[in-house]
Amino acid sequence: MTETYDLHCHSSASDGFLTPTEVIQRAQQMGVTSLSLTDHDTINGQAEAAKAALDNNINFIPGIEISTTWENKCFHIIGLNIDYEHPALINGIQALQTLRVERAKKIALKLEKKRIPNVYQAVLEAAKGGMVTRAHFADYLLSHNYVATQQEAFDRYLGQGKPAFVSTVWADLQEAVDWITQSGGVAVVAHPMRYRISASWMRRFLSFFKQTGGQGIEVITGRTNPDEIRRAMLFATQYELAASVGSDFHTPKNKWVELGRLSPLPKNIKPVWELF
Ligand code: AMP
Ligand code: MN
Ligand code: MN
Ligand code: MN
Repeated sequence: MTETYDLHCHSSASDGFLTPTEVIQRAQQMGVTSLSLTDHDTINGQAEAAKAALDNNINFIPGIEISTTWENKCFHIIGLNIDYEHPALINGIQALQTLRVERAKKIALKLEKKRIPNVYQAVLEAAKGGMVTRAHFADYLLSHNYVATQQEAFDRYLGQGKPAFVSTVWADLQEAVDWITQSGGVAVVAHPMRYRISASWMRRFLSFFKQTGGQGIEVITGRTNPDEIRRAMLFATQYELAASVGSDFHTPKNKWVELGRLSPLPKNIKPVWELF
């Protein structure tokens, strides 16, 4: 049987549309054989997903996507094959969870100044106890016709430099990698092509990430084109990082990103799952 890995996706524990059980069921339908659920700054969906994976014959790899800050820039670091009950990890992400609530309040206040009232309560309810992210705000703006698309919500309100952007200092990069490593996991740079930084900043970032003990980088993501794959392969080779594969699936409503629907990983690179 062919193995199909998808090592990056979200559930209702953060900004995903499906419950952890539904994510696993959908993965199974899509032919995924090994799945990691990587919610933003939380492990709350892990136990449910692990159980559903047993019932659906999926090889479940516990995971997380941690928001970090390095040199005033935000980077998402995926932890794969973590022990999601490890105290170092659980204690570490607690501050991020508080930070997300505080930030959501500030974003709502900024939106109020733009005559968009009552958003805080609405996004809290939409998040159903899960991590609140800007995706929840974008959904609110979209469903209440303040914008026509999710992208417009980021372009007009939520993106960096826009009126409702709240500059946030996330976890220290070294600390986040340490939490992942101490819990037995592998730290992986998420979606390297999505950071709007110059090539020289990217090289500085990757050499620092390597020094922290980071071991992987996403080479294949949901919407990568051949040129992006080629560039990510160069990063992986130059910094001796193992290659990961993950859709970053959030919702069935997005027709372009689906669980397991990923370009094949090139052969001449070490896959991250060899480190598990
Ligand atoms: P946060 O971590 O709260 O800043 O929210 C980041 C999340 O918002 C990402 O994980 C995506 O789900 C979503 N997101 C970020 N940028 C965009 C964008 N330009 N268009 C649509 N969704 C986005
Ligand atoms: Mn997200
Ligand atoms: Mn991300
Ligand atoms: Mn993600």
